[in-house]
Amino acid sequence: MKVPFLDLKRQYGTIRDEVLRSIHEVLEGQNFILGEEVERLEREISDYCGSRHAVGVASGSDAILLSIMALDLEPGDGIITTPFTFFATAGSISRLGYIPLFVDIHRRTFNVDPDKLREFVETKCHLGKKDQLMSRERNIPIRAIVPVHLFGQCADMDPILELCRRHDLRVIEDAAQAIGSSYRPVSDRPPRSAGTMGETGCLSFYPSKNLGAFGDGGMVICQDAGMGDKIRVLRTHGSRPKYYHRLIGLNSRLDALQAAVIRVKLRYLDKWSERRKANALTYDRLFRDIDNDGLGISLPFTQYENRHIFNQYVIRAPQRDGLRKFLQQHGVGTDIYYPLPLHLQECYRHLGHQKGDFPVSEDAAQAVLALPIFPEITPEEQHYVVEKIGAFYRS
Ligand SMILES: *Cc1c(COP(=O)(O)O)cnc(C)c1O
Repeated sequence: MKVPFLDLKRQYGTIRDEVLRSIHEVLEGQNFILGEEVERLEREISDYCGSRHAVGVASGSDAILLSIMALDLEPGDGIITTPFTFFATAGSISRLGYIPLFVDIHRRTFNVDPDKLREFVETKCHLGKKDQLMSRERNIPIRAIVPVHLFGQCADMDPILELCRRHDLRVIEDAAQAIGSSYRPVSDRPPRSAGTMGETGCLSFYPSKNLGAFGDGGMVICQDAGMGDKIRVLRTHGSRPKYYHRLIGLNSRLDALQAAVIRVKLRYLDKWSERRKANALTYDRLFRDIDNDGLGISLPFTQYENRHIFNQYVIRAPQRDGLRKFLQQHGVGTDIYYPLPLHLQECYRHLGHQKGDFPVSEDAAQAVLALPIFPEITPEEQHYVVEKIGAFYRS
């Protein structure tokens, strides 16, 4: 048997006619950049996520970049994020001349750990003029935080938001892996959607995300009209009207063809995310049957009453690299998100971090393994995956 890590062809097979019809309409109209199709998608994504505004952009990375640009910070300001995320989160901070300040993750959720954040503020910061939070090590003001909702589960936002209120930090949510997930720490309060808790939420339509385009695409969602408007201006080189530039922006627009594809897929997103959740439960059960605890394998953890949409199903496994190779030899595709934490990346050598600075992230980087969890995977395939994992540890 062969179990691919991700098989987009199966999904395409179920929506081919609808997608082709939608693409055909765009081709007949010959309007390819932004336009009505993108505006329709922006309204639909706003409705889906429960945001007031949505702005289509070229990628999830650009959604983060544009959101941070819109904050108008001072060069050299510090922005907190985690070292265990896709590069774009911290890369966007650095590209704009700000300094990423890393705080380690929670062992079980892989998201920024609110206790470590508090500890960071208490031990690594001091208050400057006008009570501005300052990084003691770097002697720079800290202005914002970019929490990441990794693998499809929201970060523990309440303590983060509370800290941000106290210290006047701005919040940009990296919700690239989390469209449709929600945060619910207390069961008698309504859930809050990923991307709607901070000043902006950044979505990605990269093909491997739960809502994937046929290429690159992204969106910024937000509640404030001024913020939405600013990102709209920034995505077209800061111009309004055309050829009159109020701001220095960039070219970061969503294509009508991508919007047409995403609009079709959005109608299935909840069904697909529910399938992923069901697949996660199937894995959990199969792993208990092979005594995963006894083997030292830890399973994904859903915190509180969050809605986890399982963009990835990530286990921690002893001898991870050997296991991955064994699975590959038996036709099972897996992936590693992420093999090297950001503070140890070559491009961040100038930040002066060392091994041991963020031990939970470093430990995760050498133990995590993402298993196939796409909506169309069959129970037989999942059974095969777990059986092979059991076989590896027995051999
Ligand atoms: C995918 C991803 C991004 C970037 O999205 P692109 O659309 O690929 O640019 C940013 N952050 C995280 C956590 C992601 O997973």
